[in-house]
Amino acid sequence: MTGTIERLSGLLREKKVSCRELTQAYLDGIARDNSVLNAYVRTTKEQALETAETVDRKIAAGELLSPLEGIPMTIKDNISTRGIETTCCSKILQGYTPIYDATVWQTLKQQNAVLLGKTNMDEFAMGSSCETSCHGGAVNPFGTGYVAGGSSGGGASAVAGNLAVYALGSDTGGSIRQPAGFCGLVGLKPTYGTVSRFGLIAYASSLDQIGPICKSVSDAALVYDAISGRDPMDSTSVGQKEPVAPQLAKRPENLTIGVVKEYFQGVDAQVEEALQSAIRTYEKMGARIVDLSVPSVSYALPVYYILACAEASSNLGRYDGIRYGYRAAHYGSVHEMICKTRSEGFGPEVQRRILLGSYVLSAGYYDAYYKKAQNLRGAVIKGFNEAFARCDVILAPTVPMTAFPKGFAVQDQVQTYQTDVCTVPVNIAGIPALSMPCGYDQKSLPIGMQLIANRFEETKLLQTAYWFEQEMAGEIYRKTEWGCRQYA
Ligand code: GLN
Repeated sequence: MTGTIERLSGLLREKKVSCRELTQAYLDGIARDNSVLNAYVRTTKEQALETAETVDRKIAAGELLSPLEGIPMTIKDNISTRGIETTCCSKILQGYTPIYDATVWQTLKQQNAVLLGKTNMDEFAMGSSCETSCHGGAVNPFGTGYVAGGSSGGGASAVAGNLAVYALGSDTGGSIRQPAGFCGLVGLKPTYGTVSRFGLIAYASSLDQIGPICKSVSDAALVYDAISGRDPMDSTSVGQKEPVAPQLAKRPENLTIGVVKEYFQGVDAQVEEALQSAIRTYEKMGARIVDLSVPSVSYALPVYYILACAEASSNLGRYDGIRYGYRAAHYGSVHEMICKTRSEGFGPEVQRRILLGSYVLSAGYYDAYYKKAQNLRGAVIKGFNEAFARCDVILAPTVPMTAFPKGFAVQDQVQTYQTDVCTVPVNIAGIPALSMPCGYDQKSLPIGMQLIANRFEETKLLQTAYWFEQEMAGEIYRKTEWGCRQYA
């Protein structure tokens, strides 16, 4: 009893299954498979069953259900959930239970979304394989020797492994799109400001954005419509332009797709081949393809690692062992307590980024690194503006390769940072992008295609994706089901 939001919501309405049965089926799946997938770090069984009963009472009373009502889902461990431990998969936040809900969860809770638990992630969302988590990494349902991606690896593993219908993740430099790409799913990073960040534990505030990881484009549209909107609790919130789901099936008129050559440098041959075939599919369907060059895209990776680390070093200053979370057991002075707490509480990747961030912000290096990166951020934005004067949507790889084997991403940090080359440019520019499956490599691992649109153009972006999905659905879903059975 698994499937998309659309399918399961239909079964609930037609009374073919009760919400309690549906929820129990997912809880049973978690009890059976989570020891293999390591997708969940915490489950919320009682709360889930309680919500399920509320939904069943509504169904029995003949009340109308909203699109996400009664659907079992999961939330990344950096999104605050009142009364439920939220740790960013870091030792430093162990035992921290928020006293308020993130706006996104408050909204979904009001619609009786059934929360199954909190999912695994790289510590403080810093990483590309989920392996910097203090719980160890989440596993890819398409092959247990491979990672689910990062940082929202747990959410992607749960959805691909049928342990949740959809997941909420966060994307600072690719953390929704990359794991979605590695696990054959649809992951949407919305325009900066359209989804409230209130209650999202900050990594790099000017880049962070919450979004959905789903099994289909229509599901992504439904979740995006539900969680977006202006929020007075987030000073950078602007809200959504228009609801996407009602217009999803409309074909984008005179669609021009841009193929930016800088995105294809150093891409694995099988990934390149799958993308070229997707381009031909769009062409056959009637889209116009234009070749473009956006040189500033090549600067995005160093710009990202300077800005993200700088903002992280400031945001993570609050974990000092005084107000909440972990505190070192033995210390003499206050200074020693803070030092020991941070050295013992943060893992090596988080410490590395705090040090890098403090370095680029320090007097003497500020102009050479931070200021230069800010200037180049402007160049990346300008590059995209120019590109969108010539096309509607850009098509690119999500990642230059398919899922990493376990252990690969923790061997060489700089090499791992380089694998974020295709995902970070949109965060720098604040524009929306999604990843969706477009094929499989010879190891039967999914290949992710990235579609990018101009700011607030989610409707056009998701319509373009939906169009492709309709054309490819049979092929993509058949293989997805196969992949999901692999570990069972
Ligand atoms: N992999 C990138 C990083 O390590 C992106 C992470 C994210 O989007 N949270 O910073």
